Formats: sequence, C-alpha cells, structure tokens
Amino acid sequence: MRDKTAECLVIGGGLVGMLSAYELAQAGMRVMLLERGRTGQESSWAGGGILSPLYPWRYPNAVNQLAAWGQARYRALAETLHEQSGIDPEWQQSGLLMLDVAEQNEAVAWAQHEGVALKLLTNEAISHCEPALQIAVERALWMPSVAQIRNPRLLTALRNTLERQGVTFREQSEVLALQQQGGRVTAVESSTGVYDAGQVVIATGAWSRGLLDGTPLSIDIEPVRGQMLLYKAKPGLLNTIVMADGHYAIPRRDGHILVGSTLEHAGFDKSITAAAATTLREIAERLVPALAGMKVVRHWAGLRPGSFEGVPYIGEHPAISGLYVNTGHFRNGVVLGLASARLLGDLMLGRESVFDPSLYAVER
Ligand SMILES: Cc1cc2nc3c(=O)[nH]c(=O)nc-3n(C[C@H](O)[C@H](O)[C@H](O)COP(=O)(O)OP(=O)(O)OC[C@H]3O[C@@H](n4cnc5c(N)ncnc54)[C@H](O)[C@@H]3O)c2cc1C
Repeated sequence: MRDKTAECLVIGGGLVGMLSAYELAQAGMRVMLLERGRTGQESSWAGGGILSPLYPWRYPNAVNQLAAWGQARYRALAETLHEQSGIDPEWQQSGLLMLDVAEQNEAVAWAQHEGVALKLLTNEAISHCEPALQIAVERALWMPSVAQIRNPRLLTALRNTLERQGVTFREQSEVLALQQQGGRVTAVESSTGVYDAGQVVIATGAWSRGLLDGTPLSIDIEPVRGQMLLYKAKPGLLNTIVMADGHYAIPRRDGHILVGSTLEHAGFDKSITAAAATTLREIAERLVPALAGMKVVRHWAGLRPGSFEGVPYIGEHPAISGLYVNTGHFRNGVVLGLASARLLGDLMLGRESVFDPSLYAVER
C-alpha cells in the first residue's frame, strides 16, 4: 500500500509529536501522525505534568526560554482543548515548594533576573500553608506561579482535538525506514505500508536515534528511566507541589498524589523495581507523613528522552531536506513541548521565530 494523502508526516504520538501536529495543522498543513503503539502511552503519559523545570536556575537559557514561553500559554491551551474535546486537562497553578535548596542566593538572583516570583519561606510559614508537611527545614523556596497539568488528560484532549482538526492517525504503525531522493525526504516505510510526504518530523522520544541511523547525523539521545508511585488521599491533604533532594510529591485535584521520580540508566527496559518502590515510599512518607500506611494504587515507569543538559534537538536534518527532528526534551517535555512545537513550525514554514534556532540545532 502507498498512501499519498499527507503533506507532512509526524512520527511519534507522544506529547511532542502531537503538539507538533497541532502547530502544523493550525497553520493549514495536511498532517498524518504515525505511532508504533497507541498515542500518548509512553514518557508523556508517565510524566508528572509539572509545568516548570525543577530548580530552573540549574538549566541553561535554551531550556528556560522554551519553558517561559510555554508557561505563559499553557492555561489558554488547556482551556481551548477542554472546549474542543470536552476533556479537562486540569491545568492548575499549585505552586512549587522546594525544601532544602543549597544554592538559595543563586536561585533568588535567577528569579530576579527572569522576573519570576520566588519567596523564601520559614518553617512556620510552611506549616501554616501546608500542615501535611511535617518537616523541619531552615528555609524553603516557594515559586507560587508554577502550574501543573494532568498529562494523561492533556494527551487525550489533544488527540481528540487533532482528530476534529483533520489530522489523520495511523496507530500500530511503526516507522522502519525513511526514503529519500536527491537529498530530500520523500516517504517513510512502516509496518502498515509506505507513506509519501515532502516533510517528515521525527518525534519519537527516547527512541529517536534509531531512525537517524544510516544518515549522516547522530544525535545524543538516550533513554533515562523514571519510576513514579501514585497514592489516593483526601482532596486537599496537599495543595502544592513539594520537592526535596530532587524528589517530588504532586497533588491532583481529586486527591491523587504522585511521588517521583527515579533517574536510571537501564537502556530501553521499562520495568518497575521493588528497590525504587521502597525509596519512593520512604520519600513520600518523609515529605507527607499522612501517606504512611496508605496503599500505593499504582507504580509505573517511563523512558525520558535524555539529552545533554536537557536541551532538545529542534530543526532540519543537515543533509536531508524536509526531514525535521523534535526530540530530546529529557525531564521537561511537558513544559517545553508547546514552545518547541512553535519553533519547529517556524522552521518548517519559514516564519520568523522568537527563539534562536541555533541553540537547538540538530548538528550542534
Ligand atoms: C517519571 C517521569 C516524570 C516526568 N515528569 C515531567 C514533568 O513533571 N514535567 C515535564 O515537563 N516533563 C516531565 N517528564 C518528561 C516528559 O514526560 C518527556 O520529556 C516527554 O514526555 C517526551 O515526550 P515525547 O513525545 O518526546 O516522547 P514519548 O511520550 O515517549 O513519545 C514518543 C512516541 O514515539 C513512538 N515511537 C517510537 N519509535 C517509533 C517508530 N519507529 N514509529 C512510530 N512511533 C514510534 C513511541 O511509541 C511513543 O509513543 C517526565 C518523564 C518521566 C518518565
């Protein structure tokens, strides 16, 4: 079978692929999305949905610029998707409380420079606003403007909206190879047939290196496993996202609390482990003692697309025109996804961009 219906093929139905399809479809392109399994089941589903890099001052500008652009627009996106699909992605500004941050001065200076609200909270203030946290710390950092989104719902709402906008989906369709002619991409070969298109976007997350094998471009992406536990408490037990020593607890509106996460280099192995369950349980109970003795209702793992310093690769292949990459968002694909789709669209459609594309270039 040879399918010629699309102008642009997006490979990968995670959040990055679907936001890319959204951006391109909004600009009037005929887009088809090819997904090896079902859309929205991998890293994008497994993530926590915190709409901020964790300890943002530790990241390069390239990451924070995309984050800031997305943060300013996520609420509106959630509202639009809710309206169009009837599914509420539950955007909420729950704030981010960071306990025991060693580099407070650096954090304060970063926040002042970026114009981001950041306050130092005393122990007393913490127990006043979050009585569930019975933790004694010298001082904590509070970023009240940080929001979260319920990523599984975001993915379903987005998928539904894309279908309404005319994006075609091919699930259970694994892309196996790219076809090119005279230095231009012309089609992809998949487990369900050959699809022709003059523009192709690789948005295959942790698996992004594979499709570039055999082309003169090697990007530095590796899978980094993250495990997460889910508790079900009474709504309101915890209201803000709390972090300590790199781990976090994220309260959802309905009382679910996600506790994560691990950072493991285990190849493409997505298994969950008893050791991670024990560590995460200890963290959960140290942060929120009321979780002690509560049942863990779910435990899962996802594979982040790890990249150097978390800077994604966004741009055209240097030797194959029409072939684009949007991948490598590591720990921040949810918060960065919106802006990276915008930059991808700018590059594909020849628009001026507010971002400096050289920071994300694929051959860097
Ligand atoms: C535990 C955990 C917590 C996280 N927390 C946060 C957070 O709080 N905030 C945040 O911003 N980010 C967070 N992240 C990171 C974020 O989830 C990722 O950066 C983001 O989801 C990456 O999206 P993606 O679309 O590139 O990848 P994925 O969601 O993995 O999607 C890639 C898709 O490509 C498909 N695919 C692969 N190969 C092929 C092929 N050959 N043909 C067709 N399809 C293919 C896969 O099946 C998959 O569906 C977290 C991640 C984890 C694991």
